[in-house]
Amino acid sequence: MAKYRISLIRGDGTGPEIVESTLLVLNATGLDIEWDECLAGEGAIEKYGTPIPEETIESIKRNKVALKGPITTPIGTGFRSVNVAMRQELKLFANVRPVRSFLGVPSRYENIDLVVVRENTEDLYAGVEHYVDEDRTAAESIRIITKKASERIVRFAFDYARRNNRKKVTAVHKANIMKFTDGLFLDVAKEVSEDFPDIEFEDKIVDNMAMQLVKNPENFDIIVTTNLFGDILSDLCAGLVGGLGLAPGANIGEDVAIFEAVHGSAPKYRGQYKVNPTAVILASAMMLGYLGEKDWEKRIVNAVAETIKEGKYITYDLGGTASTLEMGRRIAEKLWEG
Ligand code: NAD
Repeated sequence: MAKYRISLIRGDGTGPEIVESTLLVLNATGLDIEWDECLAGEGAIEKYGTPIPEETIESIKRNKVALKGPITTPIGTGFRSVNVAMRQELKLFANVRPVRSFLGVPSRYENIDLVVVRENTEDLYAGVEHYVDEDRTAAESIRIITKKASERIVRFAFDYARRNNRKKVTAVHKANIMKFTDGLFLDVAKEVSEDFPDIEFEDKIVDNMAMQLVKNPENFDIIVTTNLFGDILSDLCAGLVGGLGLAPGANIGEDVAIFEAVHGSAPKYRGQYKVNPTAVILASAMMLGYLGEKDWEKRIVNAVAETIKEGKYITYDLGGTASTLEMGRRIAEKLWEG
């Protein structure tokens, strides 16, 4: 029996080409992985009449770990977002987005290495909204922040810091204005931080944090925050290191995790094999780290860094002409060089 059995969703748009490239890298590790292929998105609608079939959810629940290519969210068809549905059904409460600079990628900073840990289940993202009057001249959105979810995400951030040898956790909030919701989040963060005396803790108000990230990003290590602030700050951070093509992410629950790119399915490039596979390759490295293969995680990140630095086999968005598969192949080769 294979050492690892992992659910694989190739996705749609450019997802399948990116996943094909990622598999070149994972196969080159020689790790014993059995892929449990399942459908989600457009392909699933054709076969099952729903973008998120029960079989796919069952496969992920069974295997506990999934690697996923980007999926197009159908517009105006009444189908809900696959990504949001998966997070809800599998209770994936933590969204983890590491942000690193790679030498050779045009960007403002060279030494960024931080991780945004975003609460994934509540806040304004819960979409509890309605019009206040019949004429629709006012609308209201209800923001619920709970002690339970706040404690769970902050504890996750500290545990992550400890497991990954990180030194500092910064809790980001707007407790000066939203004294109840963000006040609760901040109080809980302070309380949880006392259980982790080995890790430095600080808190920052979100507007100041946005400025600090732009001015001094090297001052930050792990950032933990509520859903909407996390959404905005993680894109800001991706921008600091050169864009979404390099940004991996993980959605993690109590015992299930899905690894994917932050970017979407870039459908206009479908079938052209020109998009950058790096974000999903880095997500697959995170997946191996999650499975305990820390050495392979580091080797894949280094191989990506070396490939980008070398600059010969990089995709158009990084200034090169290589195809999606050529870049993946080069990263696979770099795993065994030097
Ligand atoms: P997108 O991220 O797919 O693409 C935006 C632009 O960014 C592209 O046109 C392309 O120029 C560039 N880009 C994105 N990925 C790239 C890559 N790997 N290499 C090079 N360039 C890349 O965003 P969008 O166009 O807003 O969304 C397309 C679809 O993806 C939508 O249906 C959206 O709902 C979905 N989406 C899915 C996920 C997910 O599966 N997790 C995340 C975001 C968006």
